[in-house]
Amino acid sequence: MRMYDIIAKKRDGNELSKEEIDFFVTNYTNGDIHDYQVSALLMAIFLKKMSKKETVDLTNAIMNSGDVISLKDVTGIKVDKHSTGGVGDTTTLVLAPLVAACGVPIAKMSGRGLGHTGGTIDKLESIKGFKTEMSIEKFIENVNKYKIAVIGQTKDVAPADKKLYALRDVTATVDDISLIASSIMSKKLASGSDAIVLDVKVGSGAFIKDIESAIELGEAMVDIGNSMDRKTMAIITDMDQPLGNAIGNALEVKEAIETLKYKGPKDLTELCINLGAYMVLLGGKADNIDDAKGLIISKLKSGEAYEKFKEFVKIQDGDIDVIEDTNLLPKAPYVHNFKASQDGYIESMKSEDVGKAAMLLGAGRIDLNTKIDLAAGILFKRKVGDSVKQGDTICELHTNDKSKIKDVELILSQAIGFSIKQVEVNPLIKAIITKDNIKRL
Ligand code: URA
Ligand code: CA
Repeated sequence: MRMYDIIAKKRDGNELSKEEIDFFVTNYTNGDIHDYQVSALLMAIFLKKMSKKETVDLTNAIMNSGDVISLKDVTGIKVDKHSTGGVGDTTTLVLAPLVAACGVPIAKMSGRGLGHTGGTIDKLESIKGFKTEMSIEKFIENVNKYKIAVIGQTKDVAPADKKLYALRDVTATVDDISLIASSIMSKKLASGSDAIVLDVKVGSGAFIKDIESAIELGEAMVDIGNSMDRKTMAIITDMDQPLGNAIGNALEVKEAIETLKYKGPKDLTELCINLGAYMVLLGGKADNIDDAKGLIISKLKSGEAYEKFKEFVKIQDGDIDVIEDTNLLPKAPYVHNFKASQDGYIESMKSEDVGKAAMLLGAGRIDLNTKIDLAAGILFKRKVGDSVKQGDTICELHTNDKSKIKDVELILSQAIGFSIKQVEVNPLIKAIITKDNIKRL
């Protein structure tokens, strides 16, 4: 087989075989095929598109380029969730213990963050003592015993994706639905769960800005998962403003604890109830979505979800005093109130810019070697739709670096829009995609 022929075949709009896709992924990962040929192929894929079958074959090839975790020794239907990424997305911290409290085994591999805020692993590390490194044997033992364990993603998951993504990034070929879907799903499928609930974010703070593309991406990922025998569904959710009130590691841990006690922000709670209910449904712990929602809400109200979180922190060597008294979480030395410049209603928040502001305060990670500031971030007191008077605090800025506050205020004053009239808030859930149905809401 020659790479030249594979490029020409795709250039002419033909479907690549599984063997051809395996050939280029394997040899590109090894270093036997060079960037210039793969660049040409990626551009041909971008222009001529890939079929469903090609997309599944590509996902398989990328998944098999590295470690594939087997969870066959965990009893029950293992359910995972994945978010395509947004600003201040605290859901995993809430969902893992919440769904585990419903009896669904959660064996979660999480990443570190890049950009706006940390990933789940960074957030958990703001709890003193918390460890996310353990052997696979211990990981499986904990899931069997406690229904929950979270570990850091090993470096060897889908190495082909790292190379391909870096190349797409410099060849203007990131924004292809098949390439995005196979990139995300290869990593998800490698971590071994039986069922997957996808949270596809759409809006100013997400990398997908319009609903039609979000649905297309959701559908492609649901197709890939189901054709690889994992029960997969997707929820399309709004990311036109940050989720919940907190952005930043320790601030989000506190927000997660409040949400687990059923005292969290409305939007975050609503999203967790919905995503959690689908996880419970796929996990076989309820017969229909209404029963699943009922079960989820009962675990929030009874305190069982919160108790499960404490148990989880304790098993992974975290200090539960920090959970019981969140004042013990890392604290920023400077907390500055960002105030409304006028009377009115908050009409909009450019989430991406709000995320950048949080990063400037120290909450973000530029690359995996940059140290993240666990305490830094933004805590909203008002969100879209709320009325404000001039001088009211819209949000608190938490930082170690006082010199950044002026710049952050400038970003926020441009990112937050006001209206003198009352404004409607976007519904959080925009569509639900299952194996054979797309329901728009
Ligand atoms: N996230 C991924 O992991 N891959 C993409 O291609 C886009 C977003
Ligand atoms: Ca949040």
